Amino acid sequence: MTSRRSFVATSLLGVAAAAQPFKGISKDISLAKKKAPKHWIWTNPDVKDTEEQLATRYKQYYEAGVRGVFFEADSEKHFRAAKAQKLEAHRWMWTMNRGEKTLLSSHPEWYAINHKGESCADKPPYVDYYRWLCPSKPEVLQYLKDQVSSILQKDYVDGIHLDYIRFCDVILPVNLWDKYGIDQTRELPEYDYCYCDVCRSKFKAWRGTDINDIQYPQASLSWRLFRYNAVNNIVNNLALVANSYKKPITAAVFPTPEIARRNVRQDWTNWNLNGICPMIYHGFYKEKVEWIGDAVTEGVHFLNGRFPLYAGLYLPDFKNNEELHKGIVLALQHGAAGVSLFGNPPQDILDTLKSATASSQNTI
Ligand SMILES: [Zn+2]
Repeated sequence: MTSRRSFVATSLLGVAAAAQPFKGISKDISLAKKKAPKHWIWTNPDVKDTEEQLATRYKQYYEAGVRGVFFEADSEKHFRAAKAQKLEAHRWMWTMNRGEKTLLSSHPEWYAINHKGESCADKPPYVDYYRWLCPSKPEVLQYLKDQVSSILQKDYVDGIHLDYIRFCDVILPVNLWDKYGIDQTRELPEYDYCYCDVCRSKFKAWRGTDINDIQYPQASLSWRLFRYNAVNNIVNNLALVANSYKKPITAAVFPTPEIARRNVRQDWTNWNLNGICPMIYHGFYKEKVEWIGDAVTEGVHFLNGRFPLYAGLYLPDFKNNEELHKGIVLALQHGAAGVSLFGNPPQDILDTLKSATASSQNTI
């Protein structure tokens, strides 16, 4: 599973503005900022891990300021070991990108269709595992609700974390264009979804126009909005399921509200969540570490205090621990409630996390 996340990493794919919602309430600002950051780890449970290893690992996490783990697969042993060390144990779920063979064979009609009429069921874009479902189909929503329900009914699962909760990338992060040999300075029809019959008829019922009759659908603001709302509807329905279990729901998303909408039709500031982890992977966008602060600022501003933002940082994008320290401090000082890191970070990374957290607190 590490390979899945590192694919996101290596091939495709989560100031002042922070304080603005509280402008004029300086006392509350200082109190809010003094709240200890809560950090997260995205990881895949390895069945070979022993109870002793897990107890040691999760104790180290806690001491570094980590308060929760997102597990990419179910493993009662790992979840309970994390909880025994005072960590929250959440299940990390691939949501709209669903390549399970049973689903592909039983419901190929649930998969998204691009502007050329090709289905993700038999012609996935970019890579073989890109198997996107259509968010407009009621059967897809029901399937995902059942999945979340079956996960959250387990007593050792503290929450649900949605990943790949979006459309396929119509535009890849710029760092990947050379790798794939694709110029994406404009939206190309083979990566533009979803033009299935259900999406078309729902759009027509909403706006009175067949999307195929619009000369430049890429430039249609209503068509954009329709697709944002289709994913918003999925998320907010899954949030109702999580609420019914009184368990939190969070998501890993694209780095800023603007990039998320533009590249993957993801409108995450309008979701009813308990927290969000934008993948602020600066190297993917050929940006410097300083941009982490800008991205956090934008997200926090548009969330307007609705729920906390945890900055997802991509460790290989940092040249050394000094630079990582700087990235964590930037995230926290610009309003992130914590950071999220992928993998099983070694002790030097955990030490950096701890010292950067202390630095950010001391300078406020
Ligand atoms: Zn569709």
